[in-house]
Amino acid sequence: PFTTLPQLLALHAQHRAEHPAVIQDGQQLNYAQLNSQVDRAVAALQRDGLRPGDAIAICAANSIAYVVMFLAALRAGVVVAPLAPSSTNDSLLTMLRDSAARLFFVDTAVARALEPVTPRIDIPLLSLDDGPAHPALSQWLADTQPAPVELTPQTLFNVIYSSGTTGEPKGIVHDHLMRWSHIQRGIAFGYGPDCVTLMSTPLYSNTTLVSFLPTIGLGGTLVLMAKFDAQRYLELAQEHRATHTMLVPVQYQRIMARPDFDKYDLSSFQMKFSTSAPFHGELKADVLARWPGGLVEFYGMTEGGGSCMLVAHQHPDKLHTVGQPLDGHDMRVIDEDGNELPRGEIGEVVGHSVAMMTGYLNKPEKTAEAEWYDSTGKRFIRTGDVGRFDEDGFLTLMDRRKDMIISGGFNIYPSDLEAVLRQHPDLLEVTVIGVQSTSWGETPVGYVVAKPGTSISADDILQWFNAQVGKTQRLNRVIITDELPRSAIGKVLKRELRDQFQAQYG
Ligand code: ATP
Ligand code: MG
Repeated sequence: PFTTLPQLLALHAQHRAEHPAVIQDGQQLNYAQLNSQVDRAVAALQRDGLRPGDAIAICAANSIAYVVMFLAALRAGVVVAPLAPSSTNDSLLTMLRDSAARLFFVDTAVARALEPVTPRIDIPLLSLDDGPAHPALSQWLADTQPAPVELTPQTLFNVIYSSGTTGEPKGIVHDHLMRWSHIQRGIAFGYGPDCVTLMSTPLYSNTTLVSFLPTIGLGGTLVLMAKFDAQRYLELAQEHRATHTMLVPVQYQRIMARPDFDKYDLSSFQMKFSTSAPFHGELKADVLARWPGGLVEFYGMTEGGGSCMLVAHQHPDKLHTVGQPLDGHDMRVIDEDGNELPRGEIGEVVGHSVAMMTGYLNKPEKTAEAEWYDSTGKRFIRTGDVGRFDEDGFLTLMDRRKDMIISGGFNIYPSDLEAVLRQHPDLLEVTVIGVQSTSWGETPVGYVVAKPGTSISADDILQWFNAQVGKTQRLNRVIITDELPRSAIGKVLKRELRDQFQAQYG
């Protein structure tokens, strides 16, 4: 039966009061403490006049106070808009307005970055870490009992702004029913009272929430990191005997690349997860070979719609795919004109599930663009990703539609070229973008990060690469760079690279 996260929290506080709920940097709250902190914050929200259906915004690094405020808002029936600290001030102002937040919780670093626009924020700011710029959370908490609020499956839970990898952030609303399904799904992966989840991705992203929700919902222990660092991650995993974790591919890559990786005792791990960006097969194989416990990759989007799952430890021959649709998820492939394609053909992936967004907040025209209906009128969400299902129903992803390159009339998939480029022994990170070309329309350019201590030249790489591929796939240029531009959740920002190329060479 449907139970809300705040109800589950109260149950854990009753039955497992002493069990550690959240740990960070030597600080810790057990379930009884977490529950009572949450109650004090609920009472404060109610004292400040927040009603069910109102919203608050939080923009801060991961912290125990963040977790408390998130859960408190939920218990008060208040919608949480968790915002990315890496956002520009303009985009933060837009998201604050769009979400109709009535209170804004920040930490000291965010408060500082926001200074130039703070006068333009017309709602109260509060400091989660008791920094000097705004009233401190610890002073704001109330000492009274909160009034109970009834939550239904349709009560709104959060609005998450899609990471903006390809365009402007769009608010995606989730309700308690959808989030309850994420908690339920965790049971099958061994989340429960004995799990210790090491979390180093930011709380504002959906990627993080799908691992945060079953950990707290099922009474486990959450170990938080405010900022990812591969060495610190390994130390914490060993110290806390982590059983579960969600990491994005670039974090796996940084961890596996550490020469001292094999010195850490990671035998406590039961299940590791990944999502949000391409996770190449060789890296998955390396993780499976050297890191104890299972490995599960999800492919999906914040909008919901269809998701695929690859249980990598059970399908070593399918590591180049993102797996099969989850139970009850219907996924199809369509062409440029919106016609459904037969299995096996390449096209845009669309998906349907019970856990689908109703629409983007305040953006009916963006919502309409994102929808596709099959011949029976069933509603699907377009992913913007190009892929193909194989004969066993496993999905291979090529690229985002916006990143595909059309050169001299040929479709070039950057992911194909990246797979070749990655074989170069001196390269650590690679990506391929399309840039404008007078002769070809578009032409592919490779951006690469060399391994430390190597002295390979861009020309050598270009020659090496072009000797291996067909004429139509040749790179026009290779550019060596110190790092690839990435979103805070580790996605390569190809849009930014294209702008950078245009400004420098265009
Ligand atoms: P925006 O829609 O604003 O451009 P975004 O699409 O990056 O941002 P998210 O909803 O966080 O926002 O990400 C979903 C996208 O992430 C998918 O459409 C896909 O491109 C990519 N993605 C998710 N999981 C995987 C995966 N396992 N492998 C490859 N790509 C993935
Ligand atoms: Mg998207």
